[in-house]
Amino acid sequence: MPNKSFGESSCTAAASGLVQVRGARENNLKEVDVSIPRNALVVFSGVSGSGKSSLAFGTIYAEAQRRYFESVAPYARRLIDQAGVPDVDAIDGLPPAVALQQQRGSSNARSSVGSVTTLSSLVRMMYSRAGAYPANQPMLYAEDFSPNTPQGACPTCHGLGHVYEVTEAIMVPDPSLSIRERAIASWPPAWQGQNLRDILVSMGYDVDRPWKDLPKKDRDWILFTEETPTVPVYAGFTPAETRAALKRKMEPSYMGTFTGARRYVLHTFANTQSALMRKRVSRFMEGKPCPTCHGKRLKPEALSVTFAGVDIGEFMQVPLDQLAALLEPIAQGDFRAHATGAATDKEATRRDRAERAASGRAVHAVSPDVRRTSALSEEKRLAAQRLAGGVMAPASTAWAGFGLPDA
Ligand SMILES: [Zn+2]
Repeated sequence: MPNKSFGESSCTAAASGLVQVRGARENNLKEVDVSIPRNALVVFSGVSGSGKSSLAFGTIYAEAQRRYFESVAPYARRLIDQAGVPDVDAIDGLPPAVALQQQRGSSNARSSVGSVTTLSSLVRMMYSRAGAYPANQPMLYAEDFSPNTPQGACPTCHGLGHVYEVTEAIMVPDPSLSIRERAIASWPPAWQGQNLRDILVSMGYDVDRPWKDLPKKDRDWILFTEETPTVPVYAGFTPAETRAALKRKMEPSYMGTFTGARRYVLHTFANTQSALMRKRVSRFMEGKPCPTCHGKRLKPEALSVTFAGVDIGEFMQVPLDQLAALLEPIAQGDFRAHATGAATDKEATRRDRAERAASGRAVHAVSPDVRRTSALSEEKRLAAQRLAGGVMAPASTAWAGFGLPDA
């Protein structure tokens, strides 16, 4: 019978140092039996379409992921359903697997967890399923930990990690100029800019005074208003002639609609079909780290969940070569660094440990702190242990499915 769990026969096969595949029929594979050495760099070569990817990704990696998800989270079944079950009789000796994208350049110790794409989904699963949640916060789905989903994205920056600011200092670089002298550098060039100026004349704004001498209320309205009033425009008239024409209710040259300077910049950036225009207005937009997520791109609820004491934004920045130090204790069943509210309790934990060490007791030789660990159910601890081990695996020397771009 095929053994589809990480059971005894897997261990036996693992002990033999081999991953043993029997009867692989995925895609164009025809009952392929193959034994692959573990802890070695193994290359599958062959002409295009010979089944290299079907074996590496479609069979071995797919089966490893399927077993893995199955062992950690009942909820993950829908992910398994998406991935499908590979058509194979048996695979033994299979360690947890990670697939790396087919791409130029590979991961190294300086790569972070976040830069290994496939690992990211496992990390999101880990936070969703086994993270330490603040009291009373319901469990989140894996998608809630992705900045690329509407559920997960920070509501302030929409998952970008930064926000654009359009300030007076950027739009009016030389406040000694008047509006007529094009003080507002972010205004559109040529006729459109002239149109906006003429509209301001009709509205009674002084376009011939230096910008810095205009009342702040006027400057703010011209730059930042969201109103778009439509007024009569008398093209080629001086301000005095315009005032007289308005008084006499003269037929205008046309009706012009005003747009605030910031609104023009943002609207053009978002909507223009012209790359040149977008580039032009982007000069007036200043990117800053998002004040809500501080560049972590996720909604606050997602960032409130920690694993090993860090939120997922911090976790994704951990270099691969430091991952083991962070996850090892949890994979070994030591949950002191992984408690509810660990982020805020970090200092307390550090103090506790320092006190224990100072009092001559081994840091590990104390009973678990009930206050900080009670929120973790047995089920959750097991999931945390397995997932921590699974995320660590690619950082050490487990199976890694490398794919080279097809020529
Ligand atoms: Zn944000």
